[in-house]
Amino acid sequence: MAALLCLAWAGSAFAAADASAAAAAAAGAPAEPPALLLPVQGVSASQLRDTFGDDRDGGQRGHEALDIMAPTGAPVLAVDDGRIVKLFLSQPGGITVYQFDPTGRFAYYYAHLDRYADGLAEGQAVRRGSVIGYVGATGNARADAPHLHFAIFRLGPEKQWWKGEPVNPFPYLGGKPP
Ligand SMILES: [Zn+2]
Repeated sequence: MAALLCLAWAGSAFAAADASAAAAAAAGAPAEPPALLLPVQGVSASQLRDTFGDDRDGGQRGHEALDIMAPTGAPVLAVDDGRIVKLFLSQPGGITVYQFDPTGRFAYYYAHLDRYADGLAEGQAVRRGSVIGYVGATGNARADAPHLHFAIFRLGPEKQWWKGEPVNPFPYLGGKPP
């Protein structure tokens, strides 16, 4: 009986989320990302710190992402269903993955990976929870502080994987302010 009640409750919660998303769309408000899976296996939401607003390069730019500290080799998981659109090696980000969500409205960016999951390819469909790579310290991450740099951005109409409006991932990963 308890299980049935839980299912019913979850069902109504999803319905409410859909209704509010529809209302936001109707009002012309920008879409919000869904609740996402925490992208590092073994890390819980209570361990997250909100580093979105941190300065980088002496205040020249904002961080606009979360740094999730984890040991090298910890599996990195897709936060949502979707598609791998770009596997990119960059100076600051090192080994990186760009994923689009199923609607093509949001891009998820995973950086400083040690390596990709075996066989990961551009164009590949992934499910929420798929292993896409492993935590590392490539790019400009400190060698003694491996972590996943995770960002979300809202894509423009051109759906360019490299640009969009940054969205703070913290609340969507279940982070709670201290
Ligand atoms: Zn970072």
